[in-house]
Amino acid sequence: MSVFDFASWPPTLSNVQLEELTVYATSYALSHGLLYLPPELPLPTVPSAAIHAPLALFPSPVPRRLFEKAKKLQRIYNVLYSRVALDEAFLDKVMGAEHGVGKVDDFTGQLWRGWKVLRDEGINQALHLGIFRSDYLLHSFENQEPSLKQVEFNTISASFGTLSQRVSELHRYLHKATAYYSVSPHLRPENFPVNETIAGIASGLAAAHAAYSSPKDTRILVVTQDNERNVFDQRWLEYELLEKHSIRMIRQTLAQLEKTARVDPTTRKLFVDVPTDLDPSGFVEVSVVYFRSVYTPTDFPTPTHYTTRFLLERSTAIKCPSLALQLAGGKKVQEVLGQAGVLERFLADGKKYSEVFSKEEIQELRDSFMGMWGLDVGENMLLPDSEAIKSGKETFGVRKAREEAKSLVLKPQREGGGNNVYKEDIPAFLDTLPPQEREAWIAMQLIVTPANTGNYLIRAGSTSGSSESQTPVRTDVVSELGIFGWSLFGNNGADSNVKEETVGWLVRTKGTESNEGGVATGFSVLDSIILV
Ligand code: ADP
Ligand code: MG
Ligand code: MG
Repeated sequence: MSVFDFASWPPTLSNVQLEELTVYATSYALSHGLLYLPPELPLPTVPSAAIHAPLALFPSPVPRRLFEKAKKLQRIYNVLYSRVALDEAFLDKVMGAEHGVGKVDDFTGQLWRGWKVLRDEGINQALHLGIFRSDYLLHSFENQEPSLKQVEFNTISASFGTLSQRVSELHRYLHKATAYYSVSPHLRPENFPVNETIAGIASGLAAAHAAYSSPKDTRILVVTQDNERNVFDQRWLEYELLEKHSIRMIRQTLAQLEKTARVDPTTRKLFVDVPTDLDPSGFVEVSVVYFRSVYTPTDFPTPTHYTTRFLLERSTAIKCPSLALQLAGGKKVQEVLGQAGVLERFLADGKKYSEVFSKEEIQELRDSFMGMWGLDVGENMLLPDSEAIKSGKETFGVRKAREEAKSLVLKPQREGGGNNVYKEDIPAFLDTLPPQEREAWIAMQLIVTPANTGNYLIRAGSTSGSSESQTPVRTDVVSELGIFGWSLFGNNGADSNVKEETVGWLVRTKGTESNEGGVATGFSVLDSIILV
């Protein structure tokens, strides 16, 4: 098997060809809802214009065996995170406000305390829905053949599923429509993998809706962010649910729900007042609450926002994700899962779980992990460095992070991009980090992506019609592969009887000058895969 030369990508085209391809690409994107609302804020109540999402002109190379492996791992990850979410003692220990990172990270602490109160009251809905995205980079240390390494596992608001399907379709279309899109021998129909993320994610929401005790005439509620520009990514799910499953969706922000949501004191059912609805009662019953918000502290500008979040959690509606599942997605959990014996505890315990995974499967999963540790740990890399903590000295975990800074990223318990500290910024950051906050951070070895892979990145120009040429230029890039999965679980005690599926994928590509990824944060563009 010949190893693909990543530095040979993308194929070289003339400026005329590039410009023409860009016209094909942006026109297709605008015609097929591969869209974003324009950047001008505040957003108008009635949208009347959109721009195409940022795009890569060519799909990015992924070795076929690694793509197959990522898809295969997803089933284990779906089950693993479902079991983590059901293990209250584990989550209390790792994420809790009494023993875990919730002690030192205010946001995690708030969520955990809210969850604890509800647990003490008694949980009204045993089922949880997770819509997950496991993110990977290709790791090719010292130009060895690349392997697959996990960046993180998202359990809340995993976005770009539907737009990623549209980008896959766009790249296929470019191949069909233009002769020079075949310039590389790799650009052949059988190398463009199918991506059916829209139907896949909607099927997860529909499965939860059907599992709700009285699905007839109930709606799926999407909790959205203020000034969300990525609305079309969400709308495609709404249209799919309506067309294929006859399920209606409603969209409200936490601030709106503060006024419109009500939980029936007897039945604990969730009702939301839909003022514009033709339904004369105004209040509609909600089967599933799908959060595309509430993953970051800025989604909670006032304490009332937390009250509203917990009100939704208290209801019998199925939450996607539940608070437990949101906490399970913490970076700290990812680090703890890498510690000796922890995967075995969740995946190989035949006394606790009816389905167990083989040693080989667990090893394959572990092979996808990079090294990680908490900044508070001592020399055993596991327990807090109590001596250093007592004497006010630097912990072993911090010293190691200083020494290895060049090959590390530090991560707090946050989602949504833009929160990490990289390489040479690490020592100065550690100088200013208050010692008690160390526990809230993990150090992670940097994944080393194949060098000199390129692409042509296209971002929408100004909406006011600048005449500037939009011909993209070749940029060195890093591509992050995300695999989507969903999981519906929890009706059967600890042995969760997980119903899960692997449902498609996403590629986000960024210029190598940026450490961070994230399409919404403006670092990345949407992309797809060419199997090599
Ligand atoms: P978030 O939840 O905010 O998306 P991530 O863990 O995905 O946090 O980190 C954000 C970005 O930082 C990733 O998309 C990736 O580009 C980069 N990154 C994170 N971890 C690593 C790593 N171990 N090696 C290389 N890059 C990383
Ligand atoms: Mg994330
Ligand atoms: Mg991420």
